[in-house]
Amino acid sequence: MTRPPAHTSDVVVLGGGAAGLSLAHRLTETGAATVTVVEPPDGPLRPPERTWCYWDDEEGDLGPVVSASWSRLRVHGADGRHVVVDPAPFTYRMVRSTPFERHVHALLARSPGGHLLRATADSVRDVPGGAEIRCTLPDGESVTLRARRVFDSRPLPALPPSRTRLLQHFRGWFVRTGTERFDPAVADLMDFRVPQPAHGLAFGYVLPLAPDRALVEYTEFSRTPLTTGAYESALDGYCRNVLGLGALTVEQTEQGVIPMTDARFPRRSGAAVFRIGTAGGATRPATGYTFAAVQRQSRAIAAALRDGHGGVPAPHGRRALAMDAVLLRALDTGRVDGPDFFTGLFRRIPAERLLRFLDGATSPREEWGIGLRTPVRPMLRTAAEIPFLPRRSRPPARNGESPR
Ligand SMILES: Cc1cc2nc3c(=O)[nH]c(=O)nc-3n(C[C@H](O)[C@H](O)[C@H](O)COP(=O)(O)OP(=O)(O)OC[C@H]3O[C@@H](n4cnc5c(N)ncnc54)[C@H](O)[C@@H]3O)c2cc1C
Repeated sequence: MTRPPAHTSDVVVLGGGAAGLSLAHRLTETGAATVTVVEPPDGPLRPPERTWCYWDDEEGDLGPVVSASWSRLRVHGADGRHVVVDPAPFTYRMVRSTPFERHVHALLARSPGGHLLRATADSVRDVPGGAEIRCTLPDGESVTLRARRVFDSRPLPALPPSRTRLLQHFRGWFVRTGTERFDPAVADLMDFRVPQPAHGLAFGYVLPLAPDRALVEYTEFSRTPLTTGAYESALDGYCRNVLGLGALTVEQTEQGVIPMTDARFPRRSGAAVFRIGTAGGATRPATGYTFAAVQRQSRAIAAALRDGHGGVPAPHGRRALAMDAVLLRALDTGRVDGPDFFTGLFRRIPAERLLRFLDGATSPREEWGIGLRTPVRPMLRTAAEIPFLPRRSRPPARNGESPR
């Protein structure tokens, strides 16, 4: 049975993950528009709890949901030498999805124009004055929503064509150790003391939450995810042989796959329908970081709507995307050594500048300087061939297992 249009808002946001919730947060906070977020009920479409880390120079209004932060970052080279950097004025912060979700759901419930609909969005089409969304409610009934603008964060069925497609794939353990093993002030961003795969690169990632608690991850940048058993064995080796953690308990796990690609993500799928989040190209190709770009884009969309125009700015600038395309291909072809490349960046470039570069906030002059501190020949050779390479569709990379 199909009901008549149940609800009309200025904005409908499809998907209540990082991008959808961040946009709803900004819209309710600024009162820029009335907003309905459509998020499926618990089930296969809803991702499990995950952590989102980012850096920022102020805690801002995400403060209540920041569960940990670090003022120093460390990178361990494959040679065993490490570098500790102070990224001031930036701090590295962690937000967990469940408290963020609760926070934004509460904001929506308090806001007169806010609404959360537990439903699965099936289709979206342009109609005069906006767009119409057909959804299925948990009881199987259909409902139609109308909005002036729709922001769609639902995952794409397939990635757009690309020259290079790597995956950042990882599994993490929330561990509790028998004795105090961690320094809660220092986050290990990349630890290359793990065995390297035949293609791509691998590193450990340690976010201490207390002297005896941390999120410890094993990550690869490569073409295909591993089986859960292979991640478990890599994590076990990292905790035991590299970190020397001794007896530990795994309290929770987290696993994921993030695309690292030079594909072009269309930002618009209808006259009034815009893609946001990973589906709209918010993932920075060279790092997989998405959360900070999503915050910037959400603020910009809310400001544009408040000022009466509907622009959706690109999540990343052209120069950043062009440089990332070169790096991805240089890594994929094996022309640059991944561990040496990333360790070298942290050794040779002030951390604040490097993080600003990753935020797309450096000047061309600063970027030139950063470029000169990378392996110049293989990067130039790669940059020269890229314009002649076609973008190709690729089958989804699967290992036959669900990501969790
Ligand atoms: C485990 C993990 C850890 C990550 N850690 C970081 C990190 O530390 N820092 C960082 O910057 N990035 C991180 N990322 C990358 C990126 O930030 C996340 O993937 C982020 O969740 C992307 O936000 P999104 O809104 O685009 O997608 P999602 O958060 O996945 O949201 C998409 C939403 O769409 C909903 N949906 C799906 N189908 C439908 C439908 N038919 N109708 C309605 N809704 C639907 C889903 O339920 C989901 O809530 C991580 C990714 C993963 C997987």
